Amino acid sequence: MVSSPQPPAPAGADIAQIRQAVAALCARFPGEYWRALDRERGYSRDFVQALTQGGFLGCLIPEEYGGSGLGIGAAAAILEEVHKSGCNGAACHAQMYIMGTLLRHGSPAQKQKWLPGIASGEVRLQAFGVTEPTAGTDTTALRTTAKRDGERYIVNGQKIWTSRVEHSDLMLLLARTSPRRDERRADGLSVFLVDLRDAVGKGVTIRPIRTMMNHATTEVFFDNLAVPSENLIGEEGKGFRYILDGMNAERILIAAECVGDARWFIAKATDYAKSRVVFGRPIGQNQGVQFPIAKAYAQSEAAALMVERAAQLYEGGRPCGKEANMAKLLAADASWQAADMCIQTHGGFGFAEEYDIERKFRETRLYQVAPISTNLILAYLAEHVLGLPRSY
Ligand SMILES: Cc1cc2nc3c(=O)[nH]c(=O)nc-3n(C[C@H](O)[C@H](O)[C@H](O)COP(=O)(O)OP(=O)(O)OC[C@H]3O[C@@H](n4cnc5c(N)ncnc54)[C@H](O)[C@@H]3O)c2cc1C
Repeated sequence: MVSSPQPPAPAGADIAQIRQAVAALCARFPGEYWRALDRERGYSRDFVQALTQGGFLGCLIPEEYGGSGLGIGAAAAILEEVHKSGCNGAACHAQMYIMGTLLRHGSPAQKQKWLPGIASGEVRLQAFGVTEPTAGTDTTALRTTAKRDGERYIVNGQKIWTSRVEHSDLMLLLARTSPRRDERRADGLSVFLVDLRDAVGKGVTIRPIRTMMNHATTEVFFDNLAVPSENLIGEEGKGFRYILDGMNAERILIAAECVGDARWFIAKATDYAKSRVVFGRPIGQNQGVQFPIAKAYAQSEAAALMVERAAQLYEGGRPCGKEANMAKLLAADASWQAADMCIQTHGGFGFAEEYDIERKFRETRLYQVAPISTNLILAYLAEHVLGLPRSY
């Protein structure tokens, strides 16, 4: 997987300023805000609006289209800071990177039409329709079809786990435009921009899925949905490659969120271990309590270095599939270990809603499975980096 060149990230001081600005914004959305939404499975509209207005979600869009033209390192810093502050970027992180497919493979007319609105947040591109119930991780087995009919395509089929679609104006959709051939499995899939403002109720039905954490995810059904052929991105049949192109960015950014989560858990556990007194001394004086915190710290710092390395390669337009995958793997493991350690450090209080730990614990668990599961990253490293036989 080779990433496209990106403009360089701003110098260290600028990233530090971005972090400060994001932290200040996040301070306006404390634990109570997230807890109330979590109970109701509500969407964090005000938080998303604040990030949009701050220009953070358009940071990867080039300046000529109204974005700030920053590099992936800056985007990673923004999302890490969101998570380190106890907030959750899952409500909107896709607005940052889904547009990459349009930016790299869209026509000049498509970019001019859509990117300025996406950069300003006026047009929300939050939804990414890839996963299907029967295909699972085997994306090329997907069954949703788009059949050409004059100046439009007619879409039929079903997606699952399409997150944020109820809070999005556009969806990037991967559908089959010609039958799968075993010898060329990556061919025959195409990418479309679906304008949901025209489509819901006219060929698109959305059914929310309640999950263990607050994630605004859904099932989406397509029943003879008409999509104008001008909404096809790039060449027909090449869509799977276009989607793969964007995956390094997605992995780096999700990894940055995991690093942020890990840092939040570690800070929370450290503070508590210093102040909670049992048997006449702070619990953090016991090695049985302090070692897991120290270990989580070392793991999260190592993961952060890998995220940084992957981001540097990506920004330099160099191959970074190995590093982006390892960043995602290490960071998701670090945040999950830190989450477990944080509950353990807090004893019974770790389970109390008002501490926010059990909420963050549920939220960070997702990243062992999505957007790519840990096993599939290991399979990638085994096969493509170590040269072991393909296992599936
Ligand atoms: C909350 C949530 C939000 C999501 N949001 C989106 C979204 O917005 N858009 C979207 O398109 N998708 C989304 N997804 C889907 C997500 O990307 C998939 O769930 C994930 O890629 C795993 O696919 P699957 O669930 O089909 O698992 P499966 O492919 O069925 O796999 C099940 C288990 O088997 C393992 N496994 C499968 N094959 C192998 C193998 N060959 N070797 C070893 N282990 C294997 C997997 O690692 C996994 O643990 C979301 C999922 C969740 C839960």
